[in-house]
Amino acid sequence: MTTGTLFDIQSYAVHDGPGIRTLVFMKGCPLACAWCCNPESQAFRVELRQVPERCLACLRCVEACPEQAMTAIHGVPVPDRAVCATCATLACTAACPGGALVAVGRPVRAEAVVEEVARDADFFRHSGGGVTFSGGEPFAQPAFLEALLRGCRERGIATAVETCGHVPLRDLQACEPLVDLFLYDLKALDPAKHLALTGQDNTLILANLRWLAAHAPAKVVIRHAVIPGLNDDASDHEALADLMLSLGLERLDLEPYHPLGEPKYEGLGRRLTCAPDARLLDEARLAVLVATFNGRGLSCEVA
Ligand code: SF4
Ligand code: SF4
Repeated sequence: MTTGTLFDIQSYAVHDGPGIRTLVFMKGCPLACAWCCNPESQAFRVELRQVPERCLACLRCVEACPEQAMTAIHGVPVPDRAVCATCATLACTAACPGGALVAVGRPVRAEAVVEEVARDADFFRHSGGGVTFSGGEPFAQPAFLEALLRGCRERGIATAVETCGHVPLRDLQACEPLVDLFLYDLKALDPAKHLALTGQDNTLILANLRWLAAHAPAKVVIRHAVIPGLNDDASDHEALADLMLSLGLERLDLEPYHPLGEPKYEGLGRRLTCAPDARLLDEARLAVLVATFNGRGLSCEVA
């Protein structure tokens, strides 16, 4: 029995692979991208999220916390995040009548996830879709991911994995035969810039991409999050096109930054460490980027 930690499963998605897809979001990531729009995916552990607009100010959470980590300040519950980070029970969430305290993430068996995904099999069949494992970083839970992929393969469900590539090569190699499509994220080509933006340099990411391009190029779509002011100057994009052409990879998805993830930071007791201006990525600018990449001989789309 293989278990892992998810933070969401979403049906009827139309991005992240062909056809209608079920997205399985796995918890934990080896990178810490400054602009991450899914901050709840970054930590491996189950986390406490506050939703202040649902709070009834009943203060039951203060009584329920076995660690005395929840304090009422001017009638509003305020958690001690240092204590909550090691909390095993998240007892406050069960005591909250308003749904204002939410446990983000749940441990689950691989078989149960495959069962849930398989409920959408008719949609997959009629649309040419399947399941996409995303996150977080799916390969950061390698045994769990392999069990999920194997279970989907046994049921004839097409599979895609979105990966940041900062994973042991042996895990990529073990799963490659079970994956129909890799959505391979490249944040920046310059190692120093990559380190500054994500907390890791890209040596391992590029080495793994070279292996994948040599062994299964038809399975690879490169994904590039375009973050205004951080990784979107002309030299960034020239380097990306050069790399793809040198590896024989043609398909590129651009993912423009959007600010929808920004409010999640506060609920998790964190701060967004950068402030990209999404208005700089209007349709005209995106059209220019797409045309530039297509002009280099790539097949580029906005995801
Ligand atoms: S997450 Fe745990 S430690 Fe934090 S307030 Fe809730 S019960 Fe207390
Ligand atoms: S238990 Fe929930 S609704 Fe009541 S004060 Fe705490 S967070 Fe607010």
